[in-house]
Amino acid sequence: MIPPIANRFVAGESPAEALDHVRRLNERGVKAIVNLLGEHYDEREPVAADAAEYRALVADIAGSGLDACISVKPSQLGLDLGEDVFRAELAEIVDAAAEHGVFVWIDMEDHATTDATLDAYEDLTREYEGGERSSSDPESDSGVGVCVQANLKRTRADVERLADVPGKVRFVKGAYDPPADVAYKDEARIDREYRDLLEYAFEQYDGGIAVGSHDPAMIDHAKALHDRYGTDFEIQMLMGVREDAQYDLADEYEVWQYVPYGDRWKSYFYRRVTERTANLEFALRAVLSS
Ligand code: FAD
Repeated sequence: MIPPIANRFVAGESPAEALDHVRRLNERGVKAIVNLLGEHYDEREPVAADAAEYRALVADIAGSGLDACISVKPSQLGLDLGEDVFRAELAEIVDAAAEHGVFVWIDMEDHATTDATLDAYEDLTREYEGGERSSSDPESDSGVGVCVQANLKRTRADVERLADVPGKVRFVKGAYDPPADVAYKDEARIDREYRDLLEYAFEQYDGGIAVGSHDPAMIDHAKALHDRYGTDFEIQMLMGVREDAQYDLADEYEVWQYVPYGDRWKSYFYRRVTERTANLEFALRAVLSS
């Protein structure tokens, strides 16, 4: 069982617990992006196990009638073992998800994986567009999306390349710590980059823009761009972070909460707690009062 402090950020260890959380979110107007925690596998066995769990999860999501999609990590699907392993596992998950009308996001990991991730994403979306793969229900919400990181210097070119790719794009500031030759290190510069990338997307994309940020300034910027260009967008935030804002925003906008679950929750929880003093204070207060 997930202990009380960690359960602010992680929905449980089992798919059933995750879907219970999703049900509560949906009742408050927020949709869910479900992520099975796991990354950087260097053996086939956990890759195959997580991929199988995702294929079962999309069936459970469809069967439950919940408003939810999934998000997978390339290194969870075997990217460290080889691009071919990752592509094969991803394709099977996307096929299963399409059968059930469930959308699949691909998280972006460290900068050394960007090319492999974007190439796999682009090839897969084009196979669906070209009819080589197909969803059983053409009206379904199935499809694929990928994440891009504003702190990488290459991202402007990637975002331009993705304008012609028929999927969705999640814009984030970037959670990894890439070296200075490939990344902006200054927070103000990353914010400026994030704003510019959003502006390009709202102007050039047909829709499919996801603003993956808790930053009120970035969300206000996206709202203003939506008013100016009319392009559809959604807001995505993490479970346990600014949840009241998520519910408020959901009155007017499409809001999705990223909902991690699984028995590998410790390192994810540690990242959430250490990335921000307020989260650390929350954890300490909870420990001291227990
Ligand atoms: P920050 O720049 O961290 O903070 C800016 C402002 O936002 C703060 O000043 C404050 O006003 C507000 N804020 C931020 N956090 C909090 C908080 N805990 N409580 C209250 N206010 C807060 N990164 C990747 O590299 N790859 C991914 O695939 C990826 N997927 C993501 C998916 C989702 C749905 C989200 C929300 C983030 C994802 N990230 C991913 C993480 C992202 O890159 C950032 O590291 C993370 O979101 C922090 O940046 P920020 O824009 O939220 O705000």
